[in-house]
Amino acid sequence: MIPDLFHYLENPIFANEILLTNSTQNSTINNVAREFKTVVKLPEPNTVIVTIQLSNNSTSDRFARQNQEDGNEFSYTNADRWRERFPDCGGLSQSPIDLRPLDCTRLNSGVTNLIFTNAYAPPQSIELINDGHTVRYVFHWAAGQVPRIAGGPLGTDEYIPHEVHFHWTNGHFGGTEHAIYGFRFTMEMHVVCYNARYDNLAQAMNFPDGVLVLAQMFQKKFLFGERYHFLQLLPHVRRRGSRISINYLEHLFTLDQFLNVNRFNRNFVTYMGSLTTPPCRERIRWIINLIPIKISRKAMLLFQRIEGNEGFIENNVRPLQPTNGRDCFVNF
Ligand SMILES: [Zn+2]
Repeated sequence: MIPDLFHYLENPIFANEILLTNSTQNSTINNVAREFKTVVKLPEPNTVIVTIQLSNNSTSDRFARQNQEDGNEFSYTNADRWRERFPDCGGLSQSPIDLRPLDCTRLNSGVTNLIFTNAYAPPQSIELINDGHTVRYVFHWAAGQVPRIAGGPLGTDEYIPHEVHFHWTNGHFGGTEHAIYGFRFTMEMHVVCYNARYDNLAQAMNFPDGVLVLAQMFQKKFLFGERYHFLQLLPHVRRRGSRISINYLEHLFTLDQFLNVNRFNRNFVTYMGSLTTPPCRERIRWIINLIPIKISRKAMLLFQRIEGNEGFIENNVRPLQPTNGRDCFVNF
């Protein structure tokens, strides 16, 4: 049987594409191919993606309703008014902010670098989701292979990566949420993690030491070839509300494949802020690498062709928030 397939058929809000993996029998694949209109074969043998064509209207309506139920209905065109529906968005410790590393204090504890454990272990599966605001890679870790992040400003607390998502615009600059001396690069990646003392991200959100976000900036350059394999799957979640489940080894990306953990430790800044989307919950620990990584023009086009709630997602960046005298620390 194909559990993923039936899961998505029962929950057609998100049904656009399904990844059938190596355990799927060829005869089943052929049956599925007859049922649905598009079958995309991936380069690996026995791996196919099936696209289910639902009528656009019913998909959008149901998706809009789901969004409303989840409190997921907000727009970047009126980010200054989020506080009317989500009071925390008007708080005094909001993110993103303009980073001024030379004004920050140097971390002076014994260990200033982060300590990554299991950063090279593949997850059991990854769900790739277009939620109408961004694309999210949600990890499901196998017991014993769960990555953990500690050290630096985290001390002995250990954090587990829950998901990776991105913020960008349609330009060369202005796409990072955090700025450095007022300058914003092309794109910002957020690795959202929760404290290992809690069961999951939702529970951790209720505690002041619950949530950590690691941020990496990208700058668009002329590049030949592409070093980020996780980008290959983006076209499969182009449609708003689409979701695929990835469990083929080739696409089970490790934490290090998103975030080069050795490089990340070189220059970072840390401060206490908030989620950058409603409900803008505060008491979020931010650790941001200050040196952007290069990304190709072609890769950025993949992001800029993702369909959101208002056409292509061409701007999912929250305006800068006042620092209100908050402390910041650097590890260099
Ligand atoms: Zn984010």
